[in-house]
Amino acid sequence: MIKKLLYTAIVITTAFIGCKKDGNTGPQLGKDDAAFTTYENSFLEGLWKLNPDWAASVGYHKYDSLLFVPDDKLRDKLVTFAKVQIDSLSRFDVTILSDANKIDYHLMQNQMESIEWTIQQLKSYQWDPAAYNVTGTFAYILNEHYAPLANRMRNFYQKMLNIPAYYKEAEKQVKNPVTDLTNLAEDQLLGGVGVFEKDFTDSLKKTNIPQAEQKLMLDRAHLSAETVKAFAEWLKNLKNDKPRSFRLGRELYDEKFKYDIQSESTPQQIYNAAVERKKHIHHEMAQISKKLWPKYFGTKAMPTDSLDLIAQVIDTLSAKHVQPGEFQSAIENELPKLTAFVKAKDLLTLDPSKPLVVRKEPGYMAGVAGASMSSPGPYDKSGNSYFNVGSLAGWPPAKVESYLREYNQYILQILCIHEAIPGHYVQLLYANKAPSLIKSIFGNTAMVEGWAVYSEEMMLDNGFGGDAPEMRLMWYKWHLRSVCNTILDYAVHTQNMSKQDALNLLTHEAFQQQAEADGKWKRVSVTSVQLDSYFTGYKEIMDLREAYKKKMGDKYKLKDFNEKFLSYGSAPVRYIREAMLAKEPVSGSSSSSGGQ
Ligand code: ZN
Ligand code: ZN
Repeated sequence: MIKKLLYTAIVITTAFIGCKKDGNTGPQLGKDDAAFTTYENSFLEGLWKLNPDWAASVGYHKYDSLLFVPDDKLRDKLVTFAKVQIDSLSRFDVTILSDANKIDYHLMQNQMESIEWTIQQLKSYQWDPAAYNVTGTFAYILNEHYAPLANRMRNFYQKMLNIPAYYKEAEKQVKNPVTDLTNLAEDQLLGGVGVFEKDFTDSLKKTNIPQAEQKLMLDRAHLSAETVKAFAEWLKNLKNDKPRSFRLGRELYDEKFKYDIQSESTPQQIYNAAVERKKHIHHEMAQISKKLWPKYFGTKAMPTDSLDLIAQVIDTLSAKHVQPGEFQSAIENELPKLTAFVKAKDLLTLDPSKPLVVRKEPGYMAGVAGASMSSPGPYDKSGNSYFNVGSLAGWPPAKVESYLREYNQYILQILCIHEAIPGHYVQLLYANKAPSLIKSIFGNTAMVEGWAVYSEEMMLDNGFGGDAPEMRLMWYKWHLRSVCNTILDYAVHTQNMSKQDALNLLTHEAFQQQAEADGKWKRVSVTSVQLDSYFTGYKEIMDLREAYKKKMGDKYKLKDFNEKFLSYGSAPVRYIREAMLAKEPVSGSSSSSGGQ
C-alpha cells in the first residue's frame, strides 16, 4: 500500500520551535506528560511550516498555498530544525512519561534523525528524479473535499507560482541519477500532468470564481503543465554516462532499515528468518498439494519434484478467475462478506460509519503497485478511504490473463482482506482513533504491512474460506510473496542478486505469474527497504501474540489482543510490545514501568 504521497522535505522560515535554553544540559525536573504534550504540538506546527506537502498529505492544510524551491539553503534549515528538536527531546526524562508518550518520544526522535540522515547521507535529492514530482499534492488538493472547492482552487493557484523555480532548481540538483528512477519520474510526471491540463480546468467550471481571475488561474495552470512536461523532457535527454546503481548497498540499506522499520532485529536476521520461513512454507504446500492431487488430476502420475507438484496444483486452481471487466466489481462485492465474517467470529470491532470507496487508481500513483489503500489523514478524519485498483485497460491480452490468474478467485479474497477488512482499511481507522497525532503521522510501515499480513492468516485460522485446502494453499502462495519480498529486497540491494535470479526466485520458488514477477522487479528497482516491511512486521506481531498469550494465560482472548494491539496506532511493533507486555501498574500509580 501507499499511504504517504511522495513529498520533498523543504523548509522556509527560521522560526524554530523548541525548548532549548542556554546553558542547560540533561533532563530537567518537572518536564512531565503535560509538558510533553505541549511540546508535541509546537513540534508538529514547526514541522508542517517547513514541509507543506507532507502537511497536506496528512490533512493539515494551513500551508497548502506554498511550494518551496528545493535548494541547499532550505535543506540546511531542515537539518537545523531536526537538530534543535533532538536537543529539545533530550531535555525530557523518557522514563517518567506515560506509555503512549514514550512511544511518541521514540517516534519523534527517530523521525528527526531520519531527516538528518536522509539529507546528509542518503542524498536522494541528487539521484532520485522521482522525488521531484509535485503533481501528487496538487491532485490531493483537488480531490479531497476538506474545504470549499473555490478555496482549494485558490490555494492550488498560489502553490503553482513556484513551479518554474522548483524545476529550475531540480535540474541543478540532479546528477548521474539512477536510470530506473529517471524512467519512473518521467512516467509519473507525464501521468500526473493531467491535473494541470484537465482536472484543474474542469473543476474551475464548477466554481463561481470571477472570469478575470479564472483567466489568470488557467494561464498559470498552462505554464505549470508546460514546466512539468519540460522537466520530463529534460530527464529524457539528460546525458547520463555514469548512472548511479539502483542498488542501495549494504551500508545505506542497514541505516535506512533502522529508520524506516525500527525493528529490534537487524536486516540480516530478518533475511535469515525469511529464508527459514520459505523452507517451512514449501514443506506445508507440498503436503497440501499431495492431498489435492487426485481431486484435480485423478490417477495421473504426481511430479516427483515437490516445487513442480505445487506449481501444477496452483496452476490448475488459478484458472478460476474473474473476467477483465469484472475485476473492480468483484472487489466491491467481496467487502460486505468480509465485514460479516469479522462480525460473526467476533475478531474485532468494526466502525460502520466510515465508508470505503473502491476506485480506479489515479494517474499520479501509477507505476508502483497494482492495488493499494489510501486512508484519510490524521487531521482529516472525514476524508474518504480509497481502495485503489490498477486498470487493465490497454494491456495486451496475454498480460491481462497472467494478471487475472495471479489474482484468481482465491487470491482476490485474500487481497481484499489485506487491503481492506480487517487489513489496512481497518488498521488505519483504528490508528486515526488513537489519541496521539504523532503515531498517526509517523506511521510505521512494518507495523502497518505486518498487520495486513497477520490479518490474512488470522482470518483463515478462524475458518474463512471454509477451511478449504485450496484456500490455504493459495494463502501460502500469497504469503510467500511477503516472505520473498524480504529475501528479494535484501539480496538485490545488498548482495547484488541478478535480475535472472530474482525472477527465478519469484516464479519458481514463489509460484508467481510472469507479469507479477516483472512488476516486482520493477518495484525493487525503484524502492528499497519498503518491501522488507511486510515480513518483518508479520514476524514481530506473531512473536508478540505468543508472548502476550503466555502473559495473559486463561484470560487471553484473540479479540482483546487485536484491539489492544491496534489501539496504540501505527507504532513500531517493538514499542507496542514493550507496552503490552509491561507489568500492570500498581493500583494508584500513574505510570507503569517498561517491562519486557
Ligand atoms: Zn499492504
Ligand atoms: Zn484464464
